[in-house]
Parts: sequence; structure tokens; C-alpha cells
Amino acid sequence: MPIVQLGAEGRWTNYHGTGTCEVATRFALRSGDAERGRDEIAIAARAVQDWLGQAQAAGRRVRPIGAGWSPSNVNIVSDSWLLHTRRFNRCFRVGGADVRPGVEAAALMLVEAGALVDEVSDKFEQQGRSLWTSGAGNGQTFAGACATGTHGSVVGRGGIQDHIRAVQLVTPTGIHWIEPAAGVMSDAFVAATGSTALRDDELFAAAQLPVGALGIVTALVVDSVPKFLVRPIQNLRKVDCAALDWLAAGDFRSFSAAYALDQDPHFVQMIVNPYKPFKRPAMLRFLYREPWRDAYPHATPGELGAGYDALSLLGRFLDEYPWARGALLQFAMKQGYAAGPDIDDPPVYGSWGEGLNTHRPLADLFNASVTIDRADLARAFELICAVYARHGGSTVVTLRFMERAQGLLAPARFPHNAVIDFDGPRSARTAEAYARVVERLDAEGIAFTRHWAKSCRLDAARVAADYGEDFRRWRTARDRLIPDPAHRALFGSAVLDGLGLTG
Ligand SMILES: Cc1cc2nc3c(=O)[nH]c(=O)nc-3n(C[C@H](O)[C@H](O)[C@H](O)COP(=O)(O)OP(=O)(O)OC[C@H]3O[C@@H](n4cnc5c(N)ncnc54)[C@H](O)[C@@H]3O)c2cc1C
Repeated sequence: MPIVQLGAEGRWTNYHGTGTCEVATRFALRSGDAERGRDEIAIAARAVQDWLGQAQAAGRRVRPIGAGWSPSNVNIVSDSWLLHTRRFNRCFRVGGADVRPGVEAAALMLVEAGALVDEVSDKFEQQGRSLWTSGAGNGQTFAGACATGTHGSVVGRGGIQDHIRAVQLVTPTGIHWIEPAAGVMSDAFVAATGSTALRDDELFAAAQLPVGALGIVTALVVDSVPKFLVRPIQNLRKVDCAALDWLAAGDFRSFSAAYALDQDPHFVQMIVNPYKPFKRPAMLRFLYREPWRDAYPHATPGELGAGYDALSLLGRFLDEYPWARGALLQFAMKQGYAAGPDIDDPPVYGSWGEGLNTHRPLADLFNASVTIDRADLARAFELICAVYARHGGSTVVTLRFMERAQGLLAPARFPHNAVIDFDGPRSARTAEAYARVVERLDAEGIAFTRHWAKSCRLDAARVAADYGEDFRRWRTARDRLIPDPAHRALFGSAVLDGLGLTG
């Protein structure tokens, strides 16, 4: 039986303690031991569909839970049945006979929805393949990360959902196998998964980033590239304000040549102290991509420069002592980051997966972002830092880059994107400072979107305005997948209803 109940009705709090489901009955979806992935997901999808029927008969809303990492509380609903997917995490190779002609089977993997990004990355690396991007950590489930458009700072790529080639999605009335119109998997394969094939570009673009509102994702076909090495350079450098022009124009090579290596970087991240960001050194991180070779000295994630959690620990203190903010934040940046490897240190290398750290939970996290058109960076970035600092924002500000991501509701919807994150412990003053930032961007007429997983003060009117025609297309796709309003409401919650995604 792939679904088991976990104890009696009670409360469930998400990973970072930002929200609690009251009166929740918890269930777990678990992997079986079938030899073939298609058989395993056929059994699971049928069980999920029965479970949805039972929840509806019991008058309960449902919510699939991945790793529970989203601080925006898109994973929270009370008076509900929760479906934990973490133990539904097997990954299967795809054979040549399972795909349609012209599709490279060796690049694909069939992934059960609860597999962690780390697990998927690991399995690919065992096969000489790699994900091409992911978030700063690797502890999310693959389905959960895609549901909210998770991204890192790979300058030439979009979000993690861009890896998806097909999705198995369960609603009360159907087990759907959703692919682009051109098709990916063979008819025989799809039939063996117990699904009905929906080869349709609109449905696929909606299902790539569903924000948990389109049903329960049970499996994904995930794409990959040949495995590669990355060489990190991590340093503290005073960045010239004029360097923002290079970044805004996508001239990452000049930026890299000025502050690290004279090579094209694969990944560029800048973390600044919003109190005088160009007078104090910023924490820079570059990854340079190299062809894979088996013989390289292995380094730990710490040696590869993963993570900057230590910084956020100071947030509450800074909130209390405004006079100390600029200097102390800088001190923390130095302590937490200066270890390198810098350009003069012996080079270290790792695979994409090795360079990701597993994150420790932080209670009371504040976590917000704005994604802007990269072309607006030079005029927007200093303004953002100034407004945030003036109103007492007590976290560092992180700048990352990505190309337009796939999925109708992808926040990275500009041709080239600069993503600006405000991450650290929660405080009313920091939240207020973020609110002033978005107010100011509106006043200046600078377009931006916000992350589905973060505490970004979004509402339905704003979502409709930000996504425009793509939001209408997403809702049309949703209504085709779940035509009955009562069934749509089954996936509702205060947060998702408030965003205009359910109900
Ligand atoms: C420490 C930390 C670091 C982060 N780093 C980054 C980063 O670098 N870049 C970035 O973009 N984001 C980042 N995030 C955000 C994070 O990637 C998202 O919150 C992501 O959605 C978490 O995945 P999850 O498995 O925990 O999903 P959950 O939080 O469990 O769920 C998210 C949403 O997906 C839905 N969902 C989950 N599983 C399924 C399923 N099987 N079927 C249908 N719906 C489902 C849930 O119902 C919910 O609506 C970070 C968050 C934290 C806390």
C-alpha cells in the first residue's frame, strides 16, 4: 500500500517554522519495490487518486508536502489531509524503447516526485550526467522545487523546472501524463504508467510550475547534460558601482576578469551589505565550468564554498542595535565567507552536485526577493539597497542572474533576469523595509516579480498584473485539467486562494 497514515490528527509545522497546519491528518506516499518505474508510478498514482476521493468524502482539503521548505506558506493548509512525498523517491533510467523517435533516452531519468534535488543529482552523476542548474541548497524535493520556480545563479540558464520533459499529475478525475505537443515518451510507456497522455504545449507550460494548485505530481521525466566540473572562486572584493553596467549588459566576462579570473563564468553571485554596498567589500562567488575528468582532488562542500548561513545568525542582533548594522554585517560577511578559494589559492574542483550544501533549518526565517529585468540593474540596485537600509532591513542582499525560465508562472519572465534576495531571520523591521523596497520599485516604474516560495507580500490582483496574459493562460490550463470548481477547491488554502491560484 503506497499511502500510509502517520499518527492521529494534529498539527504540522513547516521546515523553517513559518507556518502551521492546524487539525491536519498526515499521510505518507511511499515507494514500492517494483522492478520498473512505470509499474511503480502506476500503482502510486491510482492510490493517490483514491486518496483524493476519500479526502473529498471526508470534507478535507489536501496538500502535497515536499521537503516543506517554502517560507511563503504555500505548503500550509488547516483542516486538511497532508500528503508527505519524501519517501516516494526512487529514480529510474529511461530506455531507448521508452521514448519517441529523436529523443535522447540516456539524458532522461524517471523521477518519483518526492526525490530530493540532491538524490536526483546524485543518480545522474553516477551515470555521467548532471543537472545544469538548481538552487543554492539541494534539500528540496524535485517536484516542490519546480512547483515554485527554484533557481540558482547560472547565467546562461533558467530555473530548475526547465529540466522537466514530462509530468504525471493526479486529479480527482484523471491520471494525466503531460508533455509538450511534440511528445517525449512512447505511447506504450505512457500507457504502462496508468496515465492518459496529454501532449499539449499549454498544459505542459502550466504544469512545469504549478505552485501546488494543479493536482498532485507523482512523477517527472527529468533532463540532464553530460557531467561537468566547476571550479569555484570565492572572495571579498570592493566592487565598483560602474561594474553594474557590465552585469546589466550580461558582460559577465568583464566582471569576472576584474574580480576573479579572465574566463567566462558559468555562475556569478554577489552578496552585499546594503549599508554602503560599494564602499564595503562584497562577497563574490564565481563558478567556472570545465569538461569532466575523473582525476581531480575531491573537496568538501565547505571547501567548495557552499553556504553562507552564519551570516543570517546576526540578523536579530542587528535588528536591535541599528547603529551597529553596517559594520557588524560586514564583520559577519568576512567571518562567514573569506575562506576562499580565491584566485591565488590552489584550485579546487567539484561536480555540480558536490558544490551544493544541505541547509540547516532556521526558525523564523525572513526570505524575500524581487526579480527584475537585468537591463534595469544599474538604476535599480543601488536604489533597492538604499531604501532597504534606510528602513532598517537587517539581512544581506544577494544578487543572482538567470535567463528566462520555462513555465507560464515563472518569476524569471524577463529575457535576462537579475534576482535580488533578502534572506535572514524574520523581524518586523526587515519585513517593513522589504515592503518599502517594492513600493519604491512601483513608484519608479521598474517592473518586477516575486518568488512563489518566499514571504513576498503577494496577492491575487498583483499576480494577475505581474503575469498578465500568461496568468490567464495558466488558469485556462488549470480549468482544463480540473474542470469542476469543487475539485479545484480541494487543492485550495488561504495562501493559494489569496494568490488567485485556486478557488
Ligand atoms: C534554505 C533555503 C534555501 C533556498 N534556496 C533557494 C534558492 O537558491 N533558489 C530558489 O529559487 N529558491 C530557494 N529556496 C526556496 C525553495 O527552493 C522552495 O521553497 C521549494 O519550493 C522548496 O521545495 P520543497 O520540496 O520543500 O517544497 P514544499 O515547500 O514542500 O512545497 C512547495 C509547494 O509545492 C507543492 N508541492 C510539493 N510537492 C508537490 C507534489 N508532489 N505535487 C504537487 N505539488 C507539490 C506544495 O504543496 C507547495 O505548494 C530556498 C528555501 C530555503 C528555505
